[in-house]
Amino acid sequence: MSNKTLAIIKPDAVKKNLVGQIITKITEAGFKVKAVKMTKLTVDSAGGFYEVHKERPFFNDLVEFMTSGPCVPIALEKENAVADFRKLIGATDPAQADEGTIRKLFADSKAENAVHGSDSDENAAIEIAHFFTRKELLENYPN
Ligand code: GDP
Repeated sequence: MSNKTLAIIKPDAVKKNLVGQIITKITEAGFKVKAVKMTKLTVDSAGGFYEVHKERPFFNDLVEFMTSGPCVPIALEKENAVADFRKLIGATDPAQADEGTIRKLFADSKAENAVHGSDSDENAAIEIAHFFTRKELLENYPN
């Protein structure tokens, strides 16, 4: 089992000035921030990131949303990171998300749902590499 996952604080949450509150929720849940940056995705980068959804009817809306403003990708570490982070953020649609989850607390809709979380160890590795170099992950340095 891998112990890493990729979170993104999405443009809706950045616009609402929720970056600090969301990172606090994440670290209070026991995740360690390994790397973080603020960046504005290009259409190519967002389309590549969500490549698996390219046949879905909402793909263009998703790319438009993800390029609508800056976002904050965060490489996270914790035992059982992927599953525990999905639990912390809640269901895709905040209306279906459990009480206390990040999407329930901070998201407005199924489309603009405040945060991303990797859905498998394999995708976590790919997604972390989408945003961070080995140097940015400080892989060559001790903890
Ligand atoms: P996740 O793993 O919970 O993020 O959900 P999915 O992998 O199913 O979808 C990826 C992202 O696409 C979601 O987090 C939403 O931002 C967006 N999305 C999902 N469903 C819809 C939809 O019906 N319409 C739009 N516009 N966006 C959607």
